[in-house]
Amino acid sequence: MSLNRRQFVASTAATAALASLSRTAWTASSADPDVIVIGAGLSGLEAAVTLEENGLKVRVLEGRQRVGGRVYTLFDLPGHPEVGGNSIANAYGRCLAAAEKYGIEVVNVMPRLMANRAGQELFLGGEHIPLKDWPTHRRNPFTADMKKLPPWAWADAMFKQHMPFRDLQNWYDEAHAQYDISIHEFLASKGATDAMIRLGYDTNIAYGTTAYDVSLLQQAFSDHWQNVNRGAIMAFSRDGPLGLVLAQKFGKTDTEVTSLTVWCRGLNGLYIDRFNVEDAKRMIIAEFERLRPASKGLLKVGAVHSWTTDPFSAGDWAIFHPGQVRELRAAIAQPHQRLFFCGEHTSIGSRGMEGAFESAERVSLEVLGAI
Ligand SMILES: Cc1cc2nc3c(=O)[nH]c(=O)nc-3n(C[C@H](O)[C@H](O)[C@H](O)COP(=O)(O)OP(=O)(O)OC[C@H]3O[C@@H](n4cnc5c(N)ncnc54)[C@H](O)[C@@H]3O)c2cc1C
Repeated sequence: MSLNRRQFVASTAATAALASLSRTAWTASSADPDVIVIGAGLSGLEAAVTLEENGLKVRVLEGRQRVGGRVYTLFDLPGHPEVGGNSIANAYGRCLAAAEKYGIEVVNVMPRLMANRAGQELFLGGEHIPLKDWPTHRRNPFTADMKKLPPWAWADAMFKQHMPFRDLQNWYDEAHAQYDISIHEFLASKGATDAMIRLGYDTNIAYGTTAYDVSLLQQAFSDHWQNVNRGAIMAFSRDGPLGLVLAQKFGKTDTEVTSLTVWCRGLNGLYIDRFNVEDAKRMIIAEFERLRPASKGLLKVGAVHSWTTDPFSAGDWAIFHPGQVRELRAAIAQPHQRLFFCGEHTSIGSRGMEGAFESAERVSLEVLGAI
């Protein structure tokens, strides 16, 4: 089951947490606080609520002019598209419990996602390649059975086939330190060529910028999390500056397209970030119209958001570079004197929004233990 978190976040993070604090814009205060929480993302807000529920006075400081952090819904656009954290699934126990606690309706979006699946399309270098032609297409760099896979399924298949250990719960364990290597090095050791890795992993990459800067252990953790959360499905996919285009279907029926979301990740994202917003909008429309001439004159860009140039996130999500799991993982959440650290990047058993909640749970116990 995959659940949409639109009302969930709006209400859980922003409303529910702050309801028990103060509504003053972005500084939720208790006079003479016992604890100051820096950052009103999911982890900070959840920690603040937990500490308040345990009798402490809490002040929350937030740098942005809004709460929610990397969870961000564009309520002024049709269908209320998401530009940040947007779906939860069956293993998101803490998120689901929070939804129940705050009386938030969760919506099963699987039918909409499944409807999108049928519409997957591949564009490479400006060329539309029907998926039935892909296995024998001249641009297909894969070998043997892998030729049958669309580019976005190749890396997963490689990881499934070759991931060197299955003890994924303990992805960070010292026993696996030898795998704290780059994904590029790992895939190359399994026979993948640069062309395969560029297309199958680097194209609109999910983590990091290229296969060189992501640790295999990070990938093992993410894989594990995805495996226990079957159902995170992308809609239809393209190559080029547009990266991945998702049809958002949040109208009255499961099939009504309310907007398109263009996800520019990795090198695509860095490229788009080099333009000012107006030029980026023009480029996105021009690229779309080039690939889909029938859309000419019909589209306009409702909003552009860059997580990378946003100083309060400086990227979409944290990753460990090769070697960093060994070097930093154990230290990353270590308290320093009276400072305690939470945030998705400190979680070890879950990722994304659930990771934020996991870290809030740990940090709350640490703070309560220390006071
Ligand atoms: C594009 C995108 C898509 C995603 N999709 C999903 C998804 O589908 N499912 C999922 O589970 N997760 C998803 N995630 C990840 C999820 O959104 C995050 O893991 C989660 O929201 C992180 O919460 P956090 O509290 O750890 O950090 P954040 O949300 O980053 O919160 C940190 C807060 O601290 C504030 N802050 C930072 N510096 C300062 C400062 N110096 N002073 C004061 N305040 C400061 C920030 O403004 C922010 O409010 C996605 C993220 C992105 C960017």
